[in-house]
Amino acid sequence: MLLVKGDVYVCQNPRCRAEVRVERESIDGFTSPICCCGAEMKRAYEPPAVRRVTPTPEIIALLKQKLEDEK
Ligand SMILES: [Zn+2]
Repeated sequence: MLLVKGDVYVCQNPRCRAEVRVERESIDGFTSPICCCGAEMKRAYEPPAVRRVTPTPEIIALLKQKLEDEK
């Protein structure tokens, strides 16, 4: 396992549920992090962020072309 910057780990102990965020990546490892309560910590699911793109004339032309192709 590799700790990746920005990842959030949640303690699997239902009474604890501590969360930590990785601020610096680990070297290659092979175990999950362990909470101070002794339980394993698992990476929290974070939904992918939606990115907004500023439509450029090229993108608009591409989308128009795609719509035309689907007709
Ligand atoms: Zn814990």
